[in-house]
Amino acid sequence: MCLIIGDLGGNSMKICPKCNTGNSDNALKCKECEAYIGKIEVTESSKIVDEFNMKEKRREKIKQIAKIICIAFIIASYVLFFIVAFSKEDFFIVLFSSILCVIIGYLNIFHPEILFRLKYFTVIDNIDDVEPSDIYLLSSKLAGVLLLLIGTVIVYVYAFFPL
Ligand SMILES: [Zn+2]
Repeated sequence: MCLIIGDLGGNSMKICPKCNTGNSDNALKCKECEAYIGKIEVTESSKIVDEFNMKEKRREKIKQIAKIICIAFIIASYVLFFIVAFSKEDFFIVLFSSILCVIIGYLNIFHPEILFRLKYFTVIDNIDDVEPSDIYLLSSKLAGVLLLLIGTVIVYVYAFFPL
């Protein structure tokens, strides 16, 4: 939002919130930095937009925390696996399958669009313009959680149960 103050001539002018340059009152863009300084009306719809942005930010934050917890859990699992099961016979086979599951699971949960592009870039020409649907994203996330669980559970089972 921009400040409207009166200058010495009695005309009001707008001060750009970005670079503090004075602009004429009816300017839409700052003459100095071209930032948008048109009137921002506080209407019902802009409140809704604000609320939406806040929710989006909160969701982004939760996602970041989930990511950190997820990565910490995976690293802890592998460290434990190395300590407990390194001398076991099929260690590297189990490790490899587990890592494969975990990577695909992780991408499915946190970066489903990457897998979506990998899957369909040969089929769809303008793949960068295509967004996966909500149902696709949801099922991708569910599959990701499942894969992540399978990937880590086999590590624990292999480490602690004599097979
Ligand atoms: Zn400016």
